[in-house]
Amino acid sequence: MEHDENCNLCKETTLRVGETSPYGAVVICTIGTEPENTWLATISPKTGGDPDKDFTIQLMPHYHYTNFTEVNANPTLAQNYGIIFAKISKAVFDIMAEQDPHFTDPSDTRESSVSIASYGKWTTWNEKKEHLHIKIFPFRNAIGQPYTVDSSFGRKEVHQDSETGERFIKMMPVEKKMVSTERFTQLKDTFILLLQK
Ligand SMILES: [Zn+2]
Repeated sequence: MEHDENCNLCKETTLRVGETSPYGAVVICTIGTEPENTWLATISPKTGGDPDKDFTIQLMPHYHYTNFTEVNANPTLAQNYGIIFAKISKAVFDIMAEQDPHFTDPSDTRESSVSIASYGKWTTWNEKKEHLHIKIFPFRNAIGQPYTVDSSFGRKEVHQDSETGERFIKMMPVEKKMVSTERFTQLKDTFILLLQK
């Protein structure tokens, strides 16, 4: 589908680099020759991590595609996804490295083992289809906890609720916080500059 009037992300995908969505996200990169093969990356005004250090980047197609089956049907769209994913990864790395001088020191293995994660899900034969989107973020603080697909998640201690008998594992709560205006402006400007290359 070209655009879905009821979709929040479709409101963001018509923006150009540097422009801000009603939600406060800013477009930092686009790639594509035609609308149907174009992807965008935005930076979110909020983070579930440390608002003084962390950030979240979101990738999404310009069209209201809802799953990777549609991406597979258009080779240029698929190719552009790979390129924008790689470019964003490098920019995220550069920004994390700049924040932390230990990060680029190969002799300091403990400090330099910082991860970047991506997360996305999509539905196929469901009525309620969401605009395809993938998040890329520094995997640390509250948003850097082992996820269900990680082996380390399976190794977490299992507790049991004494009243209901329900089994559960403990996780830190995640609360999305606004990044300060000053830091957000600096971040989006740096991303735009890095991604122009
Ligand atoms: Zn949409």
